[in-house]
Amino acid sequence: MTSPLLPTFARAELSFEKGEGPWLYGRDGERYLDFGAGIAVNALGHAHPHLVKALSEQASKIWHSSNLFQIPEGERLAQRLVDNTFADFVFFANSGAEANEAAIKMARRYHYVNGNPERFHIVTFEGAFHGRTLGTIAAGGQAKYLEGFGPKVQGFDQVPVEDLEALKAVIGPQTAALMIEPIQGEGGVRSVSPAFLRELRALCDSQGLLLIFDEIQTGVGRTGKLFAYEWSGVTPDIMTVAKGIGGGFPLGACLATAEAGKGLTLGTHGTTFGGNPLAMAVGNAVLDVILEPGFLESVERKGLLLKQRLAELKDRHPNVIAEVRGQGLMMGLRTVVPNTEFVNAAREQKLIVIGAGDNVVRLLPPLIITEADLGEAIDRLDAACTAIEAEQKNASQPGAIQ
Ligand SMILES: *Cc1c(COP(=O)(O)O)cnc(C)c1O
Repeated sequence: MTSPLLPTFARAELSFEKGEGPWLYGRDGERYLDFGAGIAVNALGHAHPHLVKALSEQASKIWHSSNLFQIPEGERLAQRLVDNTFADFVFFANSGAEANEAAIKMARRYHYVNGNPERFHIVTFEGAFHGRTLGTIAAGGQAKYLEGFGPKVQGFDQVPVEDLEALKAVIGPQTAALMIEPIQGEGGVRSVSPAFLRELRALCDSQGLLLIFDEIQTGVGRTGKLFAYEWSGVTPDIMTVAKGIGGGFPLGACLATAEAGKGLTLGTHGTTFGGNPLAMAVGNAVLDVILEPGFLESVERKGLLLKQRLAELKDRHPNVIAEVRGQGLMMGLRTVVPNTEFVNAAREQKLIVIGAGDNVVRLLPPLIITEADLGEAIDRLDAACTAIEAEQKNASQPGAIQ
């Protein structure tokens, strides 16, 4: 059947009619354990009672009023983000890419108002993913996302992660900022070392550059801290957040210190939908749960358990799993077989996992996952590995019936 949707996604032959916690109910009558969480979005799983209540209560009051008026729910969410981070100000948007656009514009304006309009270049890192707008594909620098979309937006220079010499060589009088994901998500759950992040901070301080962390995937508790930068002790000047902050409702945010944000004055940036009462009510409800005492500690504990169980799985299946990576509940398996084959084998076991770059399979369970359900996922991954090994054995036997 042809679909009226533009065919920009390779969609699986599967759709879901409802979800509950970490479980998804397919229209195929099967129940799936969701270790994709809508690409790290459903941080509190599906149909979380507190989120459902917040959304429905707000829905019967006011959805949208525009930013021409005060939005107390947004003031509150921004204040809570400020209270729990390095930031002084928040700009709300509807997606990750938009949050990054705000960050890029903010960094350029900062130098502009400082009297240095020539400083508009941002250094980004190989393997990065920052979104799909014209600006953010230039920032991400991946040829496959840039091809055919006309001249690349100017002002992005890219170097390999952990390559301090290359970084120093590319920084010049035109450089405005460095932009990095503390753990690359789409790029394959690749952690950046705290030592390298400290080098970035030192370079920014000595050269008057702004440090931008893209925490769209790593943020909002995913790694066991509210934001991943807390692990390194390195504080950015600007940080972008999306995915988990809305728990499934489209919501993005750009956080900044007062100094870094000083260029975005009245009328210099805007949004129609960003920060509307409905989104803000849901964002506040997400924070209610994540900021509850003990919640982040439980994510950290479950992350350690998952990592240990995955390491055992790798030892049992060295022909399938090459490496275990990640932190907290953002884990990656670099597979020996094509990662797409692994994703399909997991789905056969009714477990949803997600591919990433570098032949990695991402495991991004909702943060409310129980230890019992982590064990269930390990059993299903084990079964998927066994099925892949059986295939391998079959294929290696001459004359085997396929
Ligand atoms: C998903 C993601 C984005 C883009 O977010 P969208 O909401 O799809 O625009 C940007 N940066 C990172 C690190 C992401 O994981």
